[in-house]
Amino acid sequence: MTAGGHGFEGKGFDGVERRGLMFVLSSPSGAGKTTLSRMLLDRMHGLQMSVSATTRPMRPGEVKGRDYLFVDKAEFEQMVKQNELLEWATVFDNRYGTPRAPVEAALASGRDVLFDIDWQGTQQLREKAGADVVSVFILPPSAADLEKRLHTRAQDSDTVIRGRMDRASHELSHWAEYDYIVVNHDVDEAFAEVQSILKAERLKRARRVGLTEFVRGLQQQLEK
Ligand code: 5GP
Repeated sequence: MTAGGHGFEGKGFDGVERRGLMFVLSSPSGAGKTTLSRMLLDRMHGLQMSVSATTRPMRPGEVKGRDYLFVDKAEFEQMVKQNELLEWATVFDNRYGTPRAPVEAALASGRDVLFDIDWQGTQQLREKAGADVVSVFILPPSAADLEKRLHTRAQDSDTVIRGRMDRASHELSHWAEYDYIVVNHDVDEAFAEVQSILKAERLKRARRVGLTEFVRGLQQQLEK
């Protein structure tokens, strides 16, 4: 991939050829990003989740291949060495990375890709794909709300939750690197906002590489 363009284009829903986009959601754990991602995938056509590889253990309720590709450290190193990852980072002492092939295949077939990755991964994607990346940072309405969500999720031990709270402040410090900021007071409202961002970004003139041809066609029809 080169800065400013990944070179893959597909037909948009209105028949105008469009560049696929990489839609990134980041937030401290517990700000509701996973719920928002699922809602987007359910309700937006032409959007596919990038399933990351991770060395962290599987949590209760997670499904292999849906939530993550769970790999050991050696397998992860191998993926890095063979350049199979578009980006990767260490988060909470575990490795996380985005497998390159499914992203390239999705974009090549005209689909957009949704990423749930941290600020380190977002920076790397931005370096590689430039304006094809649209990034959204989700903020919790308060620290108490974040802690409550981490406890309600009941997937992690108290020590792990404490660690996530400690990390949250550091993660928040990267908010200004993102294109859009959504405060998750209410999940339905936050979803409506994230959905509007995606819809508007899909309509951006610069992504719609088929517009010249489309408008020329319209003009020909009008001149008949
Ligand atoms: P969790 O362990 O709660 O599923 O994820 C921890 C953090 O790692 C989250 O902030 C999540 O966005 C991030 N993360 C998940 N997958 C990736 C990835 O492939 N790359 C990067 N850079 N971060 C990831």
